[in-house]
Amino acid sequence: MRSLPGLRTLLDLILPVECGGCAVPGTRWCARCAAELADDPVLLCPRMDPGVPVWALGHYSGPRRRAVIAAKERGRRDLAGPLGSAVAGALVRLHHWGELDASEQSSVVLVPAPTRARTARIRGGDPVTRIAVEAVGPRRVCPALTMRRGVHDSVGLSADQRRANLDGGIRLTGRGEHFSRCLLSESAELQSVSVVLLDDVSTTRATATESIRVLSESGIRVSAAVVIAGVG
Ligand SMILES: [Zn+2]
Repeated sequence: MRSLPGLRTLLDLILPVECGGCAVPGTRWCARCAAELADDPVLLCPRMDPGVPVWALGHYSGPRRRAVIAAKERGRRDLAGPLGSAVAGALVRLHHWGELDASEQSSVVLVPAPTRARTARIRGGDPVTRIAVEAVGPRRVCPALTMRRGVHDSVGLSADQRRANLDGGIRLTGRGEHFSRCLLSESAELQSVSVVLLDDVSTTRATATESIRVLSESGIRVSAAVVIAGVG
């Protein structure tokens, strides 16, 4: 019988494995990229103010940029693990810094930023939700937002065009409505919940701004937004 390492080598020949951050062969995520992703989160200067601090694991360059693209466009579902660990590390630090309005780090609930349903289907599921689940576990992820049909891909749009494209384009899901009712019922266990919006890339903050507006109109107060990679 073939040994497991032998089998792995055989699989590597059929499906070459490379680091999702720097393309070094033989590993899905190398130690150097992991170290780079473990940097302290950085506060982004808002071009469009979503009303809460927007933190990035780092700038949209190097391994972060390549990993986000690989997870989003190339179906590298396996990168949800390392990216989720990096988000978890950032949440621990933000909590230590007093940035999350949460008495305990375990009371953070992540709301994935909405993605266009068609895009998510093509990509084989929403990578941001997968990363959120890896970061805090499925029970602390609330897919509260969805994008209506008719919202176009924002690639190539200016900040104003992005805003117009999203106008009225984000709404609460059934899960979001349930979450809102629970928060508004002021049950004791939800008093300390701190809601953090998670997105992969932030360019103009248009999605974050509109998402946070929709959540807060429903009584879901957001403490901060966290993105994997920030532009600007
Ligand atoms: Zn690497």
